[in-house]
Amino acid sequence: MSRYWSDVTRRLTPYVPGEQPKLSRLVKLNTNENPYPPSPNVLAAMQGELGDDAASLRLYPDPNADRLKSAIAHFFADASIGAANVFVGNGSDEVLAHVFQALLKHDKPVLFPDITYSFYPVYCGLYDIDFETVPLDEDFAIDSADYLRPNGGIIFPNPNAPTGRLLPLQAIERIVTGNPDSVVVIDEAYIDFAAEDVPTAIGLVSRYPNLLVVQTLSKSRSLAGLRVGFAIGHRDLIEALDRVKNSFNSYPLDRLAITASVAALLDRAHFDTTRRAVMRSREELVADLQRLGFDCVPSAANFIFIRHPQHDAATLAAALRERAIIVRHFRLPRIDQYLRITIGTDAQCVDLLAALREIL
Ligand code: PMP
Repeated sequence: MSRYWSDVTRRLTPYVPGEQPKLSRLVKLNTNENPYPPSPNVLAAMQGELGDDAASLRLYPDPNADRLKSAIAHFFADASIGAANVFVGNGSDEVLAHVFQALLKHDKPVLFPDITYSFYPVYCGLYDIDFETVPLDEDFAIDSADYLRPNGGIIFPNPNAPTGRLLPLQAIERIVTGNPDSVVVIDEAYIDFAAEDVPTAIGLVSRYPNLLVVQTLSKSRSLAGLRVGFAIGHRDLIEALDRVKNSFNSYPLDRLAITASVAALLDRAHFDTTRRAVMRSREELVADLQRLGFDCVPSAANFIFIRHPQHDAATLAAALRERAIIVRHFRLPRIDQYLRITIGTDAQCVDLLAALREIL
């Protein structure tokens, strides 16, 4: 192996995604997918795009996905967003990769919580970015005061993952105003499950040119299989992202993904119905788990983060697996006694509770 390659191999610790099992009879509660199908308009729009002979597939898609950017801008019209404030990519993972490369500085450490989305340190390794992790407090909350020190950029999910804890918008605003020379990235993969009245940070973008908000259609729009994510921010930030994208892959989204995403964004009624169903199931599941003795971290996401004071988390995860239910357990300091469990359908929640009652 050449020196260069062996160096890259040593430096990179790849992200390990949650398991995607081949067996369909499993109750799959490990990777925070939506348990409900996407809007029925998605299938109709994709069939329309394909037509009878799939001839449209001969042609490259729109490299700028203008139709999708306009649909996203329209969805957030109240926040004075225009298509020029929108960047789209192949899942928010790819959007985040471009964010790390284009917007986070390489001369001072980037800050993110010690317990957070495990892709962030992977991107830092990939792009040779120095980072410092900031400890969450003992209740797993982010303290905005910890982010008021010199840095090369700040990123965290809100709600955070895998804890599910939400940081109020005023605290985010404090971080953004306290760091006028850094880009602050809020990864809102799960924000649509927070609660009816929790606003996205997208409403702050028109006031703060250093704020970038990233969202995904994987969770609240049930389109994880199509891989569509987006970022919203000042046009200068979007332009920097476009430059990196165009040097890497000028066609990040295919025709079907663009068409399906537009259809999903236009169906607000379906979006509201499914996210409300997930939020209601979360509250019911938490109440049932508390009756079984679990401690549940307050969750604003489509998953919960729980521990049982008398039962080892790894053992519980293994026992659930024996009963064909998969949940996520992280062998990491501070959280190795916790399980992260995706909110499933009502039937899946019933199966989960029945299995836990049997195990405990
Ligand atoms: N951010 C966070 C916090 C996530 O948990 C995930 C899902 N693993 C993503 C981003 C990426 O989601 P996607 O690439 O499906 O848009």
